[in-house]
Amino acid sequence: MKIAIFPGSFDPITRGHENIALKAAAMFDTLYVAIGENSEKKSMFSSNQRLTWLQKTFANYPNIQCIAYTGLTIDFCKKNNINFIIRGLRTTNDFENELAIAHTNKQLYPTIETVFLICDIPYLHISSSIVREIIKNKGNVRNFIPERIEI
Ligand code: ADP
Repeated sequence: MKIAIFPGSFDPITRGHENIALKAAAMFDTLYVAIGENSEKKSMFSSNQRLTWLQKTFANYPNIQCIAYTGLTIDFCKKNNINFIIRGLRTTNDFENELAIAHTNKQLYPTIETVFLICDIPYLHISSSIVREIIKNKGNVRNFIPERIEI
């Protein structure tokens, strides 16, 4: 069984996240789309709200499980027999940050592999921070968030 986790803040989930998760779900037997609860990071939406949106987005995909976890991602991986971490790449900036995280995770848990995926071009510019900015300013985020959810 190939089990992967796609961890993130998903504050809120975007079409970019959805695109990456669906690609990963086609590659692995089980995919956890997982909200990493980070005490340092102040989120706009509650963990419950973010989880509800994940569940609605992936309701039709039986091999996707949406969950929230606390603590280190690798500790969640150890407990749940997960050997692959999925992360999305948009820019070289993402790459620099992600490379350090991937090597750190590998050092802490040598059997873990990080798999980087790129999203399709229409979603390349989408980020949760831009979506939050639009929401704060009462703009229309319809085309930035998954079809199955409303914000
Ligand atoms: P984090 O706070 O852990 O970075 P995010 O929710 O912002 O969590 O992002 C989770 C993952 O999704 C990250 O790997 C990020 O690079 C990726 N991601 C987000 N938006 C996109 C996008 N439009 N294209 C590709 N990857 C994306």
